[in-house]
Amino acid sequence: MALCVYCGVRSGLFAKVCGDCKKLLAKVDELRGNVGYGEFLDGLAATGVPKEKIILFLKADPEGKGSVRDQVTAEMTSELMQVMGLKGKQSAENVKDIRQSIEKEKK
Ligand SMILES: [Zn+2]
Repeated sequence: MALCVYCGVRSGLFAKVCGDCKKLLAKVDELRGNVGYGEFLDGLAATGVPKEKIILFLKADPEGKGSVRDQVTAEMTSELMQVMGLKGKQSAENVKDIRQSIEKEKK
């Protein structure tokens, strides 16, 4: 049995992503770049997937390129920078680094 790369739940014999996380991924594609973070989370909740699973999904980093949450945060930050006339781009790796350094300081 394979485990879902996002939430760790059994995803079926060959599937790397379980049904719930597939639903969430589709929703992320639909929402990203179109809505703010609050609406984004509401949209994910509207899929009917349990909240705990959405949290696992957002924190997952199956490719080591930053979690879904970091990627979406990076996109929203980049957009905001453009709106404000700033050059540059925020990458998911950057957001991940910043978040990890903040989490380290808290400890
Ligand atoms: Zn899953």
